[in-house]
Amino acid sequence: MRIFDPHIHMTSRTTDDYRAMHAAGVRAVVEPSFWLGQPRTSPASFYDYFDSLLGWEPFRASQYGIAHHCTLALNPKEANDPRCTPVLDELPRYLVKDNVVAVGEIGYDSMTPAEDTALATQLELAAEHELPAMVHTPHRDKLAGLRRTLDVVRESPLAIDRVLVDHLNETTVQEAKNSGCWLGFSVYPDTKMDEDRMVAVLERYGPEKVLVNSAADWGKSDPLKTRKVGDAMLKAGFAEDDVDRVLWRNPVAFYGLSGRLALDLEEPAATHEGNSILRGGE
Ligand SMILES: [Zn+2]
Repeated sequence: MRIFDPHIHMTSRTTDDYRAMHAAGVRAVVEPSFWLGQPRTSPASFYDYFDSLLGWEPFRASQYGIAHHCTLALNPKEANDPRCTPVLDELPRYLVKDNVVAVGEIGYDSMTPAEDTALATQLELAAEHELPAMVHTPHRDKLAGLRRTLDVVRESPLAIDRVLVDHLNETTVQEAKNSGCWLGFSVYPDTKMDEDRMVAVLERYGPEKVLVNSAADWGKSDPLKTRKVGDAMLKAGFAEDDVDRVLWRNPVAFYGLSGRLALDLEEPAATHEGNSILRGGE
């Protein structure tokens, strides 16, 4: 089973995770920029983070045979913090980098006017840079959040079929599907979407334009959830081709819209800017 996790925050994960993901079939990931679990205090904090998503993290992934790309943006939560919003002015110089395959995560957290502005501005930036957009939908008030998100997308210069709407569930999938966007599902332990609910959604709505991710980060999450969904699909009677479509071809098609997806791994470099993941003596 070949797996592309289209939304995972590897910066927060260990080399053990990379090893286990590779063993489970993961060969490609996309890491969207997001918040740190605590507020950043200046725009410069974003730039170091963006640079690590463009440099160090792809290097770490390459050591385990996994292709790593990223999506960059001012995240929805920090769009509300005036200390962080100047990032929007610097974002264009990052969006031209080869490894950036979308603008994201953008979208709503608390649905404030500041979030409206950041979302609309970054959808415009995506259109200008001919990049797709990866849009997070709020965890509270999901249907209202989805509707408002789709309204802003429709008013933007970015075509809806270049937008991935993530964190969908049973209450939002039909309306998202009707819109023509790509459909993202984050599968978490204990809460929200789990693998059996994901299989039921696939049985009802089909695999077309569906992407499944672990959204694993520093919180309670599981980087092997993609594989667990693949196994649950097979157990429920889906064909291997359906699994390949959801776990590989759909993410390749969506992020391929950037024209920048490079999935053939070369022999990994021994170091990145003089540093490696090894410890002395290895
Ligand atoms: Zn995320």
